Amino acid sequence: MLPPQARSAETPTHRTHTAERGSFAYARCTCGWSGPARRARDRARQDADEHQAPQPAAR
Ligand SMILES: [Zn+2]
Repeated sequence: MLPPQARSAETPTHRTHTAERGSFAYARCTCGWSGPARRARDRARQDADEHQAPQPAAR
C-alpha cells in the first residue's frame, strides 16, 4: 500500500482496486470510474493501471 500523499483539494485521487462479480473481475476507482468486466483479473488490473496512469495519446 502506498502512504497517503499530501492531499490537494483540486486533484482527484485515483485509487483503483479490483472487484469481482460472479466469474468476472473489473476495476473500480475511488473517483467513480469502473472498468469493463473481464474474465481475467489481470486484465481488470491492467484497466485500473491505465486509468490511474493514462498513457500519452500517441497518434
Ligand atoms: Zn479514477
